[in-house]
Amino acid sequence: MTLLRIEHLSKSFDGVQAVDDVSFSLKAGELLALIGPNGAGKSTCFNMINGQLKPGAGSIELDGQRITGKRPRDIWRLGVGRTFQIAATFNSMTVLENVQMALLSHERRVFSLFSRIASWREDEAMALLDLVGMAGHAQRSCAVLAYGDVKRVELAVALANRPKLLLMDEPTAGMAPEERNALMALTARLAKERNIGVLFTEHSMDVVFEYADTLIVLARGKLIAQGDADAIRNDSRVREVYLGTGASFSPHAALNDGAAR
Ligand code: ADP
Ligand code: MG
Repeated sequence: MTLLRIEHLSKSFDGVQAVDDVSFSLKAGELLALIGPNGAGKSTCFNMINGQLKPGAGSIELDGQRITGKRPRDIWRLGVGRTFQIAATFNSMTVLENVQMALLSHERRVFSLFSRIASWREDEAMALLDLVGMAGHAQRSCAVLAYGDVKRVELAVALANRPKLLLMDEPTAGMAPEERNALMALTARLAKERNIGVLFTEHSMDVVFEYADTLIVLARGKLIAQGDADAIRNDSRVREVYLGTGASFSPHAALNDGAAR
């Protein structure tokens, strides 16, 4: 079933057409990678879907409901979770407290909570941490975690909202290759187990080809190719776009970081 349907989405900034008539859809349980060189319009797409940016034109439907132009909080409530390009956990809290906070806001409770948070939904929060392999770090402060571990906590925080769709804009930026693979393997497993649709960007081609069910390639705001890993590897327009960026399409080639941001 179609979870996310994007039709004729466009956005320009001061005459720059950042996203230009883009249409695609994503099913529950599917991992869809949005790739393309620096400035292709990937983040702009994400930010229109999560409500941070108002589309110039086009429509966005989640589960058959139009969400175009809704506020970020309302879109989040409808089941669109995200992890951030910049880690968004609260450093002053423990790992467990971060997940408890996320559960609280899912329940729409407000802030008389600080005195009580210690016991609130602890079991559920621990279960989420267990799912992402962070239960053993529950009592540590987020400030002292390794970068890859912060990303796992972020994933637990996103899952606390029981998302139907997860948006991950460069979730593995700044990670070592093994960490990238571990995070994406975990994401892929959770997507299948919980039937969550995942839209992600990633500049390591090996990660993209390994984990994405479907790929969409943007170049200068336009969608230039769509298909599975084999189709994209063999697409002449995609090769042309990536030519000179340091990327190659062997399964183990990583795209040059600078070129893809
Ligand atoms: P990507 O994430 O694929 O690298 P972006 O979506 O960030 O690309 O950017 C697409 C284009 O839109 C770029 O030319 C960028 O400079 C421009 N752009 C993005 N955000 C803004 C903004 N807030 N104001 C002006 N121009 C922007
Ligand atoms: Mg970006």
